Amino acid sequence: MLLVQKFGGTSVGTIERISNVARRVAEAKSKGNDVVVVASAMAGETNRLIDLAKSCVTEPDPRELDVLISTGEQVSTALLAMKLTSMGYKARSLQNHQVRLVTDSTFTKAHIKRIDAQKLRNVLKDGSIAIVAGFQGIDEQGDITTLGRGGSDTTAVAIAAALKPYVKSGLVCEIYTDVDGVYTADPNIVPQAKKLKRITFEEMFELASSGAKVLQTRSVLFGMKFDIPIHVRSSFNDSEGTMVVSETNDMESVVVTGISQDKNEAKITVLHVSDRPGIAHSIFAPLAEAEIIVDMIIQSASSQGFTDMSFTVPRGDYKRAMQILQELVNQKKATYVTGDEKIAKVSVVGVGMRTHSGVAAKMFKALADAKINIQMISTSEIKVSVVVNESDMKKAVEVLHKEFELGIER
Ligand code: ASP
Ligand code: MG
Repeated sequence: MLLVQKFGGTSVGTIERISNVARRVAEAKSKGNDVVVVASAMAGETNRLIDLAKSCVTEPDPRELDVLISTGEQVSTALLAMKLTSMGYKARSLQNHQVRLVTDSTFTKAHIKRIDAQKLRNVLKDGSIAIVAGFQGIDEQGDITTLGRGGSDTTAVAIAAALKPYVKSGLVCEIYTDVDGVYTADPNIVPQAKKLKRITFEEMFELASSGAKVLQTRSVLFGMKFDIPIHVRSSFNDSEGTMVVSETNDMESVVVTGISQDKNEAKITVLHVSDRPGIAHSIFAPLAEAEIIVDMIIQSASSQGFTDMSFTVPRGDYKRAMQILQELVNQKKATYVTGDEKIAKVSVVGVGMRTHSGVAAKMFKALADAKINIQMISTSEIKVSVVVNESDMKKAVEVLHKEFELGIER
């Protein structure tokens, strides 16, 4: 069996924890598995490096920032390899240029193009444990890149995908983290939340992209595309975590699988824009140019040739977005821009929504009964999201968890 074991920052946060991880890796190897380890930087290290850069210059050059922040993983992989070697195991740390994890040149959020599986296979064939630096890549010019915050998850799943064609006896990508698995809701908000035994790639994708932090969204897409079973579990205990897998027939019987919340967005409304072809483009093109990602969009019914446009942007981009839109007002393309940073998005997710109607209605009724005002709504095939006041977020998650009976043992 090939195990790709990814350890997050908290799991390698101290020397003691690194020893703990080494024991776990050694055990997997002793059982006769091929083991590839992917390690994150020690907890807090990537943030420390980013702060260091920002204390040097206000806007660090992205290429140089990647050179800097990729070093965190170099440290943790070396320490882990040393530890395993001292325990009598053959282990080798591998950085981006050695694995040849080739990406495009979008520094700080690069996309993986290919991985040189041969290099890893040689290390494994030699009986060694490969300890790969997560998060890092290298572009066609040989420059160091990184895959975006939380990118080690994606490194792990992508490596599993690259090795999959050569595996004869089973493959699992284990993501070791500081939580036991994926829960029906954030246990910090809903103590009755239950750990899920299984969840589909699609559900995990929707939860991850609407606020659940347990996996980087892109890693889930890789898992889905190459059908890599992902086991999300804790590095602090031996209990079974959550398997992220392809959908099977029985999974649609559960209508809602989980609830997520996201406080990282802000709402902007552009008022009184003339309702004619091209107006949406004139609002959203400058935002896209500034690389600001717009999420929910609502255009109100037009009245006397004018309409209002509301949408959400990441909270970190709020001020910049407001400045850009103020320009539109200055150019008389809109009369007024207003915004609200204190909003939250709450989403219910489940593949069962495809075959069960009424989920949205049930959700709105539960929120109404709790006197929670809904500001915006958006839906996908397996998700319904609402924007509410930030101060209502906790209560919204609680009542929805109860409404959809997610605390009940199945
Ligand atoms: N060290 C990187 C970060 O903190 C990547 C990772 O941990 O997955 O975002
Ligand atoms: Mg992470």
